[in-house]
Amino acid sequence: MKDLSIYIHIPFCTQKCFYCDFLSFKGKEEYFEAYKIALLKEIEDFATLNKDKYIVKTIFIGGGTPSILPIGYIGEISSKIYSLFNVDKNIEFTIEANPGTLCLDKIKHFKDSNINRISLGLQAYQNRLLKKIGRIHTIEDFLQNYENIRKVGFENVNVDLMFSLPTQTKDDFKETLDNIARLKPEHISTYSLILEEGTKFYDMYEKGEFSLFSDELDRELYYLAINILQKNGYNQYEISNFCKPNKECKHNIVYWKRKEYIGFGLGASSLINEKRIINTTNFKDYINFNNNREIEILEKRDMYSEFIFLGLRMTEGIKKSDFYKNFNIDIYDVYKKEIEKFIKNGLLIEEDDYLRLSKKGIDLSNVVFSEFI
Ligand code: SF4
Repeated sequence: MKDLSIYIHIPFCTQKCFYCDFLSFKGKEEYFEAYKIALLKEIEDFATLNKDKYIVKTIFIGGGTPSILPIGYIGEISSKIYSLFNVDKNIEFTIEANPGTLCLDKIKHFKDSNINRISLGLQAYQNRLLKKIGRIHTIEDFLQNYENIRKVGFENVNVDLMFSLPTQTKDDFKETLDNIARLKPEHISTYSLILEEGTKFYDMYEKGEFSLFSDELDRELYYLAINILQKNGYNQYEISNFCKPNKECKHNIVYWKRKEYIGFGLGASSLINEKRIINTTNFKDYINFNNNREIEILEKRDMYSEFIFLGLRMTEGIKKSDFYKNFNIDIYDVYKKEIEKFIKNGLLIEEDDYLRLSKKGIDLSNVVFSEFI
């Protein structure tokens, strides 16, 4: 049996955060039930054809805001998976949660539904900033829920943070990092604000209502995060991800290492047998069981470049021997020119079997990645 990871997309939110271009909608509460039915059917259809081929190692319910669903929904989704698939007893089973949609009973429901990891979207420790970026919760909501999550017995918690937010100061971000590190979540992700088309921030930017941080300031905040988190015992194992020993997010590592995963739900993508499959992004079609998938059979070149730009996100880098194992060709036979150039200008480091980004390479990772694509 092959290892499999499952991603489940819940495309509902209470309101759209001003920076967010994820596939999610507000105000669709009346469709929760129809969506769940379509989702369970999709899971069932896949399992009917494939269940004995796989053992499920990780499940990630993301969105959107999965925690917006009423109590009972997550249990049904979990039971469906457990009844249809072989599930590893050491599974990592994550749910994303917005502190504005949680309560003690919901957290207990997650626990009863086999979930063992909660990923909390906080973003900033200042109510002023939370309001400014369109979050629906306060820092007090976060703290109350964090306490409840621990009370219920969750021992694996991630907190998402953002930097380079409009009006955010270096002191704000330092306060955020210090306060969160003090709470000792097992995992912390921190991403810089990226202006995405179609978001409220993009409109505001176009109208000249706010300006982006300079690259220098953005990098300063990034290094502040690395310093504070490392001092607090967090290991940076990926460009934007930090964890306590052995608490890496196994699910995300599956993406970065290009292992197989199946995505269920609106717009969810899968990587199965070197095919990239993307579900329909049309909500009406999805709930009416017209899931017209886009299927891309990956060319060798796509596989090589994905292996490199996803793998280089991890601080350990990529193993040259893994490249050979996966593709039966030496990495230097494909990318000699690029690798030598980046090593020479200090963006890539070669150490034994590994190639990894240097500090400068992380700052310029987009430049590096684009040359491999
Ligand atoms: S809660 Fe998450 S998915 Fe929903 S709008 Fe905000 S950032 Fe996007």
